[in-house]
Amino acid sequence: MSLQLDENLVRSIVSEVVRNIRSATGAAPAASAAAVAPAAPPAPFIASGALSGPRHGVFQDVPAAAAAARKGFEQLRAKGVAARRQVVDIIKKLATANAETWGRFEFEETKIGRLEHKIAKLQIVPLVPGVEWLRPYALSGDHGLMHEEYTPFGVVAAILPVTHSVPTLSGNIINAIAAGNSILFNPHPGGARSAALAVRAYNEAIHAATGIENLVCTIEKPTLESFDALCKSPLVNLLVVTGGPGVVNAAMKSGKRAICAGPGNPPVLVDDTVCADKAAKDIIYGCGFDNNLLCIGEKQLFVLDRVANALVRSLEKAGAVRLLPAQTEKLAREAFTMKPDAAGCSHPVLNRELVGKDAAALAARAGLSIPPATPILIGETDPDHPFVLEEQMMPMLPIVRVKTVEEGIALAKKSEHGYKHSSIIHSLNVDRMTEMAREMDTTLFVKNGPSTTGLGLDGEGYLSYSIATTTGEGITNPQTFTRTRRCVLVDALKIY
Ligand code: NAD
Repeated sequence: MSLQLDENLVRSIVSEVVRNIRSATGAAPAASAAAVAPAAPPAPFIASGALSGPRHGVFQDVPAAAAAARKGFEQLRAKGVAARRQVVDIIKKLATANAETWGRFEFEETKIGRLEHKIAKLQIVPLVPGVEWLRPYALSGDHGLMHEEYTPFGVVAAILPVTHSVPTLSGNIINAIAAGNSILFNPHPGGARSAALAVRAYNEAIHAATGIENLVCTIEKPTLESFDALCKSPLVNLLVVTGGPGVVNAAMKSGKRAICAGPGNPPVLVDDTVCADKAAKDIIYGCGFDNNLLCIGEKQLFVLDRVANALVRSLEKAGAVRLLPAQTEKLAREAFTMKPDAAGCSHPVLNRELVGKDAAALAARAGLSIPPATPILIGETDPDHPFVLEEQMMPMLPIVRVKTVEEGIALAKKSEHGYKHSSIIHSLNVDRMTEMAREMDTTLFVKNGPSTTGLGLDGEGYLSYSIATTTGEGITNPQTFTRTRRCVLVDALKIY
């Protein structure tokens, strides 16, 4: 049986997935936590009886896991690039075949986001590039030949966010193994069972196809101590961190080389040159996707005053529910607690209980009863409101009116905090697009579409759930997980 995935087939599957979500979403999407039936028994791909053990890659402690991952790396190295290709195809195939079961399992475990988007995030895993991405760089001249190869680090240790445990895990595996590494995960404790479920299934299939054991490993009960042990392990060669500011800071201080996919707070700016209905639909899709858990999702909206009323009407027409100022403030008091920071200044702290919850659940906190399928809430605020400045990861979009595009860009930039993550504009004016792109200086900049197009969903480009913003590698791909090594041949093999 050939597991090779055809590029055009993948694209058409992805477009189909996006179309299905959009038609299901439209003005009124998504199964809510309340509406979803209890989880089915997990994973058709758990074949054998043993739930953990060396072959399955699920470990209790870091030293054993790191030693197994090192052996996995050595076995992969011995089997060569053909085995890497096989593994990449296995991950893509299993992620899509198990999308429904694993998506549901993760939804039940984490209790955040939207079920159909959990499933969709796995169905599109084939968009992550594989071995074909790596092309050596070569030069020839009067002195002979030089070529540079993209070679593996060895064991990659990866930290997962709770917002997309198995999707990030699957994308990281493809990137790391296409580049010739093995990989060992310290998942978020809230998504660790989902990670272990996928790791067991992946390892079983990899072992059956290639004979390699423990190419993918995970810590069953991850803790801050296991993170620390990974950072200190001499067997770990590279860290890949996907998460918020705390873990990024910890990784950067660890002394180990780290690729950091850090936090974002993406603003979206709408001017007076676009169709309000189209912009509204795009914004709702991006902001509402998985209840705004994506780090690239539209988190705050700046709109030119003269078109603000029209845009709000379009947002409401497309399914958003508008909160009155008093309701917005009531929800804000539930969503944030004011606490003193190190300097003694009062600072809003996010209430994690509301992260990734349905718009209807948030509306209830604001004293409002709305249909469970409502995609997002909207509410007008000032530019210094916590909903604007904090990365709140909720389907609640604060709207700020601005007098000029320049003011909008300046406020958008302030709200992004220099994370250099993502920003979005809806405008047909090329000068404004250019000005915002230059000012924001973000890793992703999307023009006239939902933020999700930035990851290849109905936009051009490839997928990764780890966008290395803090350390600057960008949307991670197999090359991100390589060391560049040069070979030189002096004076020989000059055939011209
Ligand atoms: P989080 O920072 O709470 O947790 C991320 C991971 O880090 C978890 O595995 C957690 O256990 C661990 N962790 C947290 N603090 C730690 C510390 N001090 N030391 C060691 N480990 C620590 O984030 P989350 O809620 O799971 O995910 C959401 C965050 O991740 C958001 O800030 C979002 O923007 C970011 N994110 C970024 C990307 C990207 O590609 N740039 C992708 C997804 C999520």
